[in-house]
Amino acid sequence: MRTNSGDAAPADEVNFTAPERMCVICRRRLPKAELARYVAGPSGMTFDEEKTMPGRGWYVCSDTGCRNRFAKFRPAVRRKKGVL
Ligand SMILES: [Zn+2]
Repeated sequence: MRTNSGDAAPADEVNFTAPERMCVICRRRLPKAELARYVAGPSGMTFDEEKTMPGRGWYVCSDTGCRNRFAKFRPAVRRKKGVL
């Protein structure tokens, strides 16, 4: 029951659906803003500060354990024999 319907409240921000991404380590789903994005570059994982770099990105949450484990994280890179 709402008793404050008389308030001049702004738009209900709870209904705003922030984009969510999954931490590759703990697999929790978190708002994109709380995750760090990394992109696989030619010399390994590159921190994508702006989250705008092209290519496949991996998201890691701010948990220290996840960050430490992600340092050793190796994405499953498909190597095709004879290609390249
Ligand atoms: Zn995590």
